Amino acid sequence: MYDYLVVGLGVAGFSFLQQLEENGKTFVVFDNQSQQSTRIAGGMFNPVILKRFTPAWQAAEMLPYALSQFEKAEKKYGNTYIHYIDIYRKLASVEEQNNWIVASDKPVMRDFMQEITDEKIDGIEAPFGFGVLKGTGIVNMAKLLDDALKNYRNEDQLIQADFDYDQLIIKDEYIEYQGIRARKILFSEGYGMKNNPFFKDLPLMGTKGEMLMIETDARIPYIIKSNVFIAPNVVQKGQYYIGATYHWEDKTNTPTAEARQHLEEKLGQLLQKPYKVIAQKAGIRPTVIDRRPLVGTHPEHPNLAILNGMGTRGVILAPSTARHLYEHLENGVPLPKEMDISRFRGA
Ligand SMILES: Cc1cc2nc3c(=O)[nH]c(=O)nc-3n(C[C@H](O)[C@H](O)[C@H](O)COP(=O)(O)OP(=O)(O)OC[C@H]3O[C@@H](n4cnc5c(N)ncnc54)[C@H](O)[C@@H]3O)c2cc1C
Repeated sequence: MYDYLVVGLGVAGFSFLQQLEENGKTFVVFDNQSQQSTRIAGGMFNPVILKRFTPAWQAAEMLPYALSQFEKAEKKYGNTYIHYIDIYRKLASVEEQNNWIVASDKPVMRDFMQEITDEKIDGIEAPFGFGVLKGTGIVNMAKLLDDALKNYRNEDQLIQADFDYDQLIIKDEYIEYQGIRARKILFSEGYGMKNNPFFKDLPLMGTKGEMLMIETDARIPYIIKSNVFIAPNVVQKGQYYIGATYHWEDKTNTPTAEARQHLEEKLGQLLQKPYKVIAQKAGIRPTVIDRRPLVGTHPEHPNLAILNGMGTRGVILAPSTARHLYEHLENGVPLPKEMDISRFRGA
């Protein structure tokens, strides 16, 4: 009998497994690589909404814990995942300069939003300068997931296969799946939750995102944010991540010509140097109607739990959200109301 069976090894599943490991729980995890969100994400951590210069929900509060969890993974796997890189928000007008100055004086923002700079950046024209954000950066989630998969495979804790919901047997004291018994099951399938008969009615919308990887001679040491992001590839000099798009109808992981054209159009307005597109990738962000995580247990089967709805900010949200869920499941601590799926019951 395991303590947990976990379905889905993206940043949500990974964060929950960290909780299990820290608390000496036994588990087996299923993953089928059907969803790509964590793997292709920019992996950026930034607690400020760069369109309006407002704080993202709980982000500044959750960021230190997220980084401490990724640091633990760095120690465990002997690799570097966290790369601190300042974000330079290109300002478009005097009005935006003023908005930046006002916003950066607010208490939560002061730690991150710095002064405006007129620093020259190779290949980028910015007559109104840049607002500088510090304490931000990129977590190399693809590398982290590769290392986690390898580790769990070596430890015989990973089953790389589709989880077939029809074969789940639910008893009061445990669940059973293909001869595997566990006290509880945790579903963290990202947008794959739409196939889960126990939770599929929760209002997970799913927002497709596409990104390009380019090569250019421009040397850009920061993450530049204008109509798109340009972010250095943390493992390959001279390559940059360009992202991302938002699409609400198409729910496939297939890259599209429309998204490439859109990204290249915006990139052309930002980068004044030649570049070559070397890759294009797509994934579905597990976004929720009220933009808050989906955490909790099934109303009739308390041994079925869910950790989902990380939306556009899985890197910052997943570790704290996983901790809340673990404390709830194992120690009976109530979940924060904003993330508890019971908010959608009986509405
Ligand atoms: C283009 C793009 C850019 C992004 N940029 C950022 C960013 O810069 N910073 C940030 O914080 N967030 C970003 N995000 C959002 C972030 O990627 C998500 O919040 C996060 O990855 C969601 O993680 P997850 O673990 O819930 O889901 P996923 O990463 O989708 O993982 C779910 C896992 O479950 C598996 N699975 C599903 N169903 C089954 C099944 N039946 N059987 C077995 N396995 C199953 C899937 O294969 C997958 O591995 C971005 C997303 C996109 C698409």
